[in-house]
Amino acid sequence: MKWCARPLTNIHYCPFWVGNARTIPPNWGMFLKMEQETRKAYSNPLLPTSQFVMCGNCFRADMYKGCAFGCDYCFANNRGGKFERDFQVANVDLIRKWFKEAIEDGDVSNIKKECLNHRVPIHLGGLSDPFQKCEEKYRASYRFLEISKYYNYPVNISTKTAHLDDMYWEILDPNIHTFSLSILGYSDEYVRTWESATPLATERIAFAKELKERGFWVSIRIQPIIDINEVEKLIRASDKYVDYYTVEHLKLPIDNASACKRLLEKMYGVKTQLVAKGREYEFDSLTKRKNIEYIKSITDVKIGCGDNDLHVLSDSLNCCGIDTMPRAFKNWLKYNSMYIKMTGKRDVWTPQANCNQCFNGDCVIKGFSQMKQYVDRAFVQQYGDPNQLSLF
Ligand code: SF4
Repeated sequence: MKWCARPLTNIHYCPFWVGNARTIPPNWGMFLKMEQETRKAYSNPLLPTSQFVMCGNCFRADMYKGCAFGCDYCFANNRGGKFERDFQVANVDLIRKWFKEAIEDGDVSNIKKECLNHRVPIHLGGLSDPFQKCEEKYRASYRFLEISKYYNYPVNISTKTAHLDDMYWEILDPNIHTFSLSILGYSDEYVRTWESATPLATERIAFAKELKERGFWVSIRIQPIIDINEVEKLIRASDKYVDYYTVEHLKLPIDNASACKRLLEKMYGVKTQLVAKGREYEFDSLTKRKNIEYIKSITDVKIGCGDNDLHVLSDSLNCCGIDTMPRAFKNWLKYNSMYIKMTGKRDVWTPQANCNQCFNGDCVIKGFSQMKQYVDRAFVQQYGDPNQLSLF
């Protein structure tokens, strides 16, 4: 379905360094102070993404714009020219105000507040990691989670971290907080081929175990899938500790030739299985299907299929498994093409407010303003006849 995206970080604003004060030379101190005072707040920290046409877990919150975990395959990172270089921090007080207006005052005047008012679960970390190094300095994700605790509001947290300080355990609550840990393989060498600054897979698996022992719903997003042998090792080492796996294969942006070349060089034996599809190179359908069948044969844990063409192979109604999370998550955005394909149901709640701000300007369709219009169109494009029977 999607990866979290890491806009390239200008070294002067790199959160990995600013969070690590002991490593900063003295003359940086004044620079950092000025930089903090003048930094513009991240203006778009909370909004459903345009993925709502096919995804029920698309009400995204990101406390940081930019990510220092350094994943080579990071989606936006490889989209030539489309990402910005400046690191920003969300204005958490403004988010608190939106929660108050939507939940306490009943304000549903825009799509964001209508979703908050309806208690649509939030996906924290859709575009950047909420627990990257800079969280130690800004604690924006901590303050966001405090708000969710105060309003008893469901939040699915996507992260690659393998550790949380004690202060987080005081506010995290298994009834309203769930975790999706992204891991792409198992061996140290393989992980370091693709990610420069993340915890190792064994550390993240240990964190999944800890979360499970603390009573949290936990999934592992195995993405991007490149080497099925690494996926097998990861599953065999982790499936006792997780409630769900989401799997999604690698895609490479054709329009970024240098990133494509760099990444393809690392792909050794599987390069020949990639085919051009639209603006991306991806694995051919047969390889993807075989991989998913194989994954299903080695574990009893439910699998969600994130590849857009394989959603219907999922073991639940949403490839993130949000329909298997605790009861507080029941108001996930069901009116989407995958849910409709799987169930045949269209009589579910969908926001009425104008949703055009969820798209880049050039993707807005003239005459459209509601999610339902976009979803109905996407359904026909992907599956054809809108009156077909459900799969289940
Ligand atoms: S954790 Fe990796 S994939 Fe996710 S936003 Fe950061 S750099 Fe990108």
